[in-house]
Amino acid sequence: MSIVEKLLREVVGGGICTGCGACVALAPVGHARMTDSPLGPRPEFAAGVVLPDLAWQVCPGKGVDYAALYRAHFGQLPENWLLGCHRRVRTGHSGFEEIRQAGASGGVISHTLIYLLESGLVDAAIVVRQGVPTPLQARVVIARTRDEILAAAQSVYIPVSTLDILPRLEPHQRYAMVCLPDQAAALRQLQLAGHAVAQQIKFVLGPYTGTALYPAAITCFLRSRRVPKDDAVTSLKWRAGEWPGYLEIRTAAGRVLTSKKIYYNFLIPFFVTQNSLQSMDFTNEFCDLSVGDAWSPRFEALGGGHSVITTRTQVMEAVINEMCHDKLLLAEPVDAAESLAMHGHMLDFKKRGSYIRNRLRRALGRAAPDYGLRPDPLPKARWAVEFVVSFLFLVGGTRVARKILEWLPESIIGPLFNRLRLLWKGWSKPVKRKGLGTLTMVPVARPAK
Ligand SMILES: Cc1cc2nc3c(=O)[nH]c(=O)nc-3n(C[C@H](O)[C@H](O)[C@H](O)COP(=O)(O)OP(=O)(O)OC[C@H]3O[C@@H](n4cnc5c(N)ncnc54)[C@H](O)[C@@H]3O)c2cc1C
Ligand code: SF4
Repeated sequence: MSIVEKLLREVVGGGICTGCGACVALAPVGHARMTDSPLGPRPEFAAGVVLPDLAWQVCPGKGVDYAALYRAHFGQLPENWLLGCHRRVRTGHSGFEEIRQAGASGGVISHTLIYLLESGLVDAAIVVRQGVPTPLQARVVIARTRDEILAAAQSVYIPVSTLDILPRLEPHQRYAMVCLPDQAAALRQLQLAGHAVAQQIKFVLGPYTGTALYPAAITCFLRSRRVPKDDAVTSLKWRAGEWPGYLEIRTAAGRVLTSKKIYYNFLIPFFVTQNSLQSMDFTNEFCDLSVGDAWSPRFEALGGGHSVITTRTQVMEAVINEMCHDKLLLAEPVDAAESLAMHGHMLDFKKRGSYIRNRLRRALGRAAPDYGLRPDPLPKARWAVEFVVSFLFLVGGTRVARKILEWLPESIIGPLFNRLRLLWKGWSKPVKRKGLGTLTMVPVARPAK
């Protein structure tokens, strides 16, 4: 079987393609592209196109040998398996109020990109921007100015391919790139394999990544608000306004629809992407700089936008240190364990939940990525919790459930979902947190493919 056939049959056909775009970047120029589908971007190849073996090796959809990648990229396995290899963790935000306000949490990624650009360390930044080419879509774009970087600030919660941009990079230019975890892992493998264009990416930055939504989530949201089909959306912001922000959709007829972030989370069980369910990497472990929301009662009470800022390489630690020194970032070091306590639920969802979900898929004869790692400890009670979670996602993803959702007013489902979520979190917390603090991931042999 050719590499193209293997990718299309086992990864795309198996429903585990993450839409990263790496395979398209490795195809002869003009012979492959990423196309939009209800499941996010998917690769499409011209007839007879031949891909190198590398396209299969780096594909994060089929899985990544994490242990080998940690060793190859960082020279060691992580000492802290929840956070990955890292230099230092801080909490903080941009020192410039307009950048902090523009960002999803504290504007740290955008400000760091601006710093790298303006200090001449890179020639351009590769970012993802909502509203390109239409308000409901989002694309990877190359930003060459501060304004272009700021125009792409904020999180985009629908799947967007990024690595297919590699063939469009200018020779000899240096780039910083924002990637999600699957994309960062694929990019690092390309770099390690000596892919010259991938090596032009000098800095990889990325958000902590919990869940993303299929694009149909927005269609459902619009229908639930009774927006007629002919009233076109003119803009969409996932996290408008004051941190943690709210979904804001404007339409041609002048309607402004908003939903608090904690309320539109009710879309997750109905529209969560398969990539969100299968990935074991929450803190974006192969970036130089990983940034998440600093969820804690202290910061939530303060308001204004706060981030967890994790550096993973010496060169990025030097950049962030310099930015802190110059008051471009206002940040203070924080103990790794303290920072992880802000994300205990999602860390468990990824490290143990994804492992169980991938095992369940395989047991049911479905394709699932293999990362060559097994979480330890993994008590039986944790399996039981995952059966409930997986059942809810299974039911939520059906057409009937999504249709019912359209008819339930958000004023009821939003607070109700939030209440149920908090109850479930409280109930399942003892099981989910048990052994999490000391969790290790044990490398296990991966079957040769
Ligand atoms: C899908 C997704 C899920 C997330 N889940 C969590 C979570 O569960 N918990 C948590 O603490 N944080 C999560 N985050 C991260 C959080 O939303 C912020 O992105 C992060 O705190 C950085 O904030 P910032 O203000 O520094 O970033 P900004 O200054 O706003 O910069 C964000 C940068 O990321 C780029 N970007 C946005 N979306 C994407 C995308 N889909 N793919 C590639 N690049 C993108 C933008 O172009 C921009 O350059 C998630 C982010 C995403 C995209
Ligand atoms: S996960 Fe990435 S490399 Fe694999 S098939 Fe999908 S787009 Fe291609």
